Amino acid sequence: MSEGCTYCGTDVHVHEPVFVEEEQSGERTTIGKFCNYACLAQYIEENELETGACCQLDLS
Ligand SMILES: [Zn+2]
Repeated sequence: MSEGCTYCGTDVHVHEPVFVEEEQSGERTTIGKFCNYACLAQYIEENELETGACCQLDLS
């Protein structure tokens, strides 16, 4: 079974894949799979997923 990288579409198992999960309604759901951290980093950057998302931003 081939699984394409969420960012670039390459079969992730050719590399050392990184999987991203979110907990939704108490269940862990895979929301992304990436060839490596480089693809993950690019995906986050292009989708601005990190903007304002740090869990410690409000603690000051
Ligand atoms: Zn990739």
